[in-house]
Amino acid sequence: NSVQVSVLGLGAMGSALAGALVKAGYATTVWNRSPGKADDLVAQGAEVAATAGDAVRAGRLVIACLLDHASVHEVLDPLADELAGRTLVNVTTTSPAQSRELADWAARAGVAYLDGGIMAVPHMIGQPGASVLYSGSADVFDQHKPLLDLWGTSTYFGEDAGLASLYDLALLAGMYVMFAGFMHGAAMVAPAGVTAGEFAAKAAPWLTAMTGAFEGFAAVIDGGDYTVEGQQSLHFSHLGDLLAASSDQGIGTEVVAMVQRLIQRQIDAGHGEEGFARIFESIKQPG
Ligand code: NDP
Repeated sequence: NSVQVSVLGLGAMGSALAGALVKAGYATTVWNRSPGKADDLVAQGAEVAATAGDAVRAGRLVIACLLDHASVHEVLDPLADELAGRTLVNVTTTSPAQSRELADWAARAGVAYLDGGIMAVPHMIGQPGASVLYSGSADVFDQHKPLLDLWGTSTYFGEDAGLASLYDLALLAGMYVMFAGFMHGAAMVAPAGVTAGEFAAKAAPWLTAMTGAFEGFAAVIDGGDYTVEGQQSLHFSHLGDLLAASSDQGIGTEVVAMVQRLIQRQIDAGHGEEGFARIFESIKQPG
């Protein structure tokens, strides 16, 4: 625990990250734009810096957990000279393009850079189930992995600093569409007097079991042959019954209709006998 570490940003997440470092015995300096947010951490043993510059000078490893990309630049741009020769791990949520831009900025400033995407809420930090995705400098990841592992499972994706953010957003895309699917099912049974809670009790184990299909879809997609035996065909998955039943219940059909459109484009292109995984092609090449 000989690394001197500084944490910039003591919002809900930055405080949780700093707290885990202090608890593990790292010499931790913290800074926040508005005063008063460091009190708990100081009571646990952290040092508080009056300015972001003081915090950067106190740490060889600087963690940024600010609101967004613009706030990271606002805080770090004036400190490029102080940061030179140090290591920056930025776990502020940014887009892939913003992550790459910051990596370029860091390279020009002589700062070793690792980008992180946090897949957890603050109370999960340091608990099982928390995961943080990283990309950028492999050296930084390897050197500081014991520290990063204090927050959750650390996964490294590659030197392209945008990869962690890309993965983060791809996983969120999957999550939101799945959530919308759950809401659609709940809305379908609601007119029959089924509560959302009753539906959730059935949907959770069902959808959990269905995630087992990802691997088979992935094997077909990666193999590039959608005619592999044993798949459910696009004709069979046409979803007409789902749409009709939804309409009969008097509810909106957007969620299911969206999936049906992806299927229909492949049927129209003559692939109706091929497997459901083929809708990957509808998404890959927007119509
Ligand atoms: P909060 O809103 O709790 O905190 C935001 C922090 O950013 C505060 O420390 C705030 O300082 C600081 N800040 C905002 N603008 C500026 C600025 N212009 N200059 C200096 N400091 C600034 O957010 P969280 O802590 O929850 O989130 C921090 C990052 O972590 C975000 O990028 C978020 O997307 C990401 N994250 C959060 C998760 C969560 O569940 N909370 C989950 C995954 C990622 P001040 O106190 O002065 O306002």
